[in-house]
Amino acid sequence: MSTKHPHESGHKLIAGATGDWEIVIGLEVHAQVSSKAKLFSGANTEYGAEPNSQVSLVDAAMPGMLPVINRYCVQQAVRTGLGLKAKINTISVFDRKNYFYPDLPQGYQISQFKFPIVGEGEVTVDLADGETVKVRIERLHLEQDAGKSIHDLHPDLSFVDLNRSGVALMEIVSMPDMRSSLEAAAYVRKVRAIVRYLGTCDGNMEQGSMRADVNVSVRRPGEPLGTRCEIKNVNSIRFMSQAIEYEARRQIDIIEEGGVIKQETRQFDSKTSTTSAMRSKEEAHDYRYFPDPDLLPLELDEQWIEKIKATLPELPDEKKSRFMSDYGLSAYDAGVLVAEKDRAAFFERVAIGRDSKLASNWVTGEFFGALNKAGLNIENSPISANQLGKLIDLISDKTVSGRIAKQVFEIMFEFGGDPAQIIEKKGLKQVTDLTAIELEIDKVIAAHPGKVAQVKDKPKMMGWFVGQVMQSTGGKANPQAVNQLLRKKLGLG
Ligand code: ADP
Ligand code: MG
Repeated sequence: MSTKHPHESGHKLIAGATGDWEIVIGLEVHAQVSSKAKLFSGANTEYGAEPNSQVSLVDAAMPGMLPVINRYCVQQAVRTGLGLKAKINTISVFDRKNYFYPDLPQGYQISQFKFPIVGEGEVTVDLADGETVKVRIERLHLEQDAGKSIHDLHPDLSFVDLNRSGVALMEIVSMPDMRSSLEAAAYVRKVRAIVRYLGTCDGNMEQGSMRADVNVSVRRPGEPLGTRCEIKNVNSIRFMSQAIEYEARRQIDIIEEGGVIKQETRQFDSKTSTTSAMRSKEEAHDYRYFPDPDLLPLELDEQWIEKIKATLPELPDEKKSRFMSDYGLSAYDAGVLVAEKDRAAFFERVAIGRDSKLASNWVTGEFFGALNKAGLNIENSPISANQLGKLIDLISDKTVSGRIAKQVFEIMFEFGGDPAQIIEKKGLKQVTDLTAIELEIDKVIAAHPGKVAQVKDKPKMMGWFVGQVMQSTGGKANPQAVNQLLRKKLGLG
């Protein structure tokens, strides 16, 4: 395993008509704080409620209403900052970011600008080949979400749903440290894993609890950063990868044809997998940020931060190292297992007290494969960790071979049930009884005198004999026993 630094160029270049190019990506991830109440009001935040049923007078911006900071949301932001190995700022300031939009009744969003609650941090991003790259975090700040405009319910009317108005968001801003869509995808997965481990955001991108603004530029290797375009509000990892690929190619084509990139905000169209311009930098808002006079600067107590630190769970990186050292797993296998908290927990329940390599092979191979194929996850898995563990015990004590265990696994996955009972009922027990195996061997030898004569000169033919015996025992013979006995009977020593 090696760790690459973002500034070592020379990797992941893409070819243009006039030479190689490097993609540069920086992400602003908006993560909704897992909290029952909003950032400055007590209104409910539950997803999927009747439109406008979760709107307090503060969220509707009635005159004279005052925001009151939700201590729990602050705590969640601090937890997230610690999980991102970032500096926690004991003094931060809420600003008003002024703009007009029908789903923003206040006429401004309360956000943090100059003094965010969390400063610089770092995320270790795991790539598919077991390698890692570091992506630096610039900041994390707290802000309010806006409401939602709905334009497709009526031919000439728009609707506004303010349920989201005032919901707490953490905006996690990375440095421009990613160099490919794969790295960006792996970064989002890692940030999502971290907030899920921490319980500070559910990371559910389909429901909009996590979305990203994707900044993309291109440059020739070694050159200074190019002009970026920002693709707004991308709500799936697949869309983000498509947007990056399209956007990089678009920029390369423009530059190679002698044009220049204009800094602008763009949107992604998932139907065509393309991006298109929304507004240019010249049209960019002047938000006229200023400190919100209704809110005092947020002061955090060092001891309070220390207390939060003491309650942090084991995070993916630490769990990965522990799985590698305690269970002897490869970086790749450990990475797959810790990517989701409940996968890691499932693996540990299977592995404890058993052959951990065998457990990891079964969990990452058969088990995840079957879940994927059935479109299920661990929560609604038809096989429990306890049942899979029992099946592995039956392989270890040689009741069944690995091959038969796969059949048992399929039955368990499809119909449920206890592995020992399935093996008993279906008569799948491995035949270790030497007389029974010998009987089958004798039959095969008697039926193929020609092959028996040949095998003395061509020992490779042994495989054929083993295959025959396995077949005639329905795969239940113990392969080692078959091998040993066959060698003896065929005079191969
Ligand atoms: P803005 O409000 O203009 O979006 P932010 O500071 O919030 O500015 O975010 C800027 C984002 O753009 C960061 O994630 C940063 O890493 C990224 N970024 C900055 N310069 C570049 C560049 N040249 N290419 C790609 N991404 C960039
Ligand atoms: Mg931005």
